[in-house]
Amino acid sequence: MKIYSTRKLFVEGILPKPSATQDIGALAERLKALRLWFAAEQLAELVTRSVKECWNSAQFLDELVRLEIERQEERRVTQAIRISHLPVGPTISNFDFAYQPSVSRSRIESLATCQWIRDNQCILLQGPPGVGKTHLTIALATRAIQNGFSVAFYRVDEWMHQLRADAMLELSQLKHRKYMSSNLVVLDEFGYQLMNREEANLFFRVINYRYGKGSIAITTNKGITAWPEVLGGDEVLAGAVLDRILHSATVLNIQGRSYRLKDLETTLGSPQTANHSSAEALTGPV
Ligand code: ADP
Ligand code: MG
Repeated sequence: MKIYSTRKLFVEGILPKPSATQDIGALAERLKALRLWFAAEQLAELVTRSVKECWNSAQFLDELVRLEIERQEERRVTQAIRISHLPVGPTISNFDFAYQPSVSRSRIESLATCQWIRDNQCILLQGPPGVGKTHLTIALATRAIQNGFSVAFYRVDEWMHQLRADAMLELSQLKHRKYMSSNLVVLDEFGYQLMNREEANLFFRVINYRYGKGSIAITTNKGITAWPEVLGGDEVLAGAVLDRILHSATVLNIQGRSYRLKDLETTLGSPQTANHSSAEALTGPV
């Protein structure tokens, strides 16, 4: 197939001349009819560039389509993040691995491939406050969205209100809730508040339904032995919850210094010589 330069197409009258703004306007309308909004918006600028840089027709089309695809993808990610209620900001690249040596960069990068989500597995991040549990979880959940997975982010205390409100719903109605249907559900700050028996049962209903169907990422400052206390004092139920979550889960046990105290440590001295008793006193019991 013969490929013309855009200049030649214009000279031979095959394409409308760039100065013929009316024709560009008509093409822009056709692009809009195809819902190619960004291509329509950028058309005039792209035509001007294509003439200046002597693109052939294939190059022009390629550039127009590439711009549209890139922009649609950006829009999809922005909307999905908004719908997920994921906080914006924490990423893998702005996580300071040097500050937190107990976190293996290669392990996080491996999780960032999202294979665990494809396999409907869970991750559990545990450790004291400020060590980056929420940061890393948000970063991984954002990667999940970029990879096309649906995500729902909840702080457990706030989420319990919704679970209580949904308590009377049948499973057939419940399964349309985002916390049931999303590919990945993030449950941030599990264990800060103790649940009563009814709440623990509602929690179990979700974990049980999602088991093998979808992924869960949990952050907690509580060790596994404290889970029965969090889950209404019910040892059997806690065992059933843990059994489902930990089955082929990745557990990241982060033991280190709170990033929130980084500046304090700088003031007090280097991390090696920092007054850890002050830092611990501020951190409080975990
Ligand atoms: P946790 O959930 O473990 O209590 P967060 O993830 O909320 O801790 O971290 C507290 C704050 O410190 C957040 O603003 C987070 O972005 C930041 N932070 C924690 N660890 C790191 C790190 N290693 N590198 C960069 N920022 C960090
Ligand atoms: Mg947190």
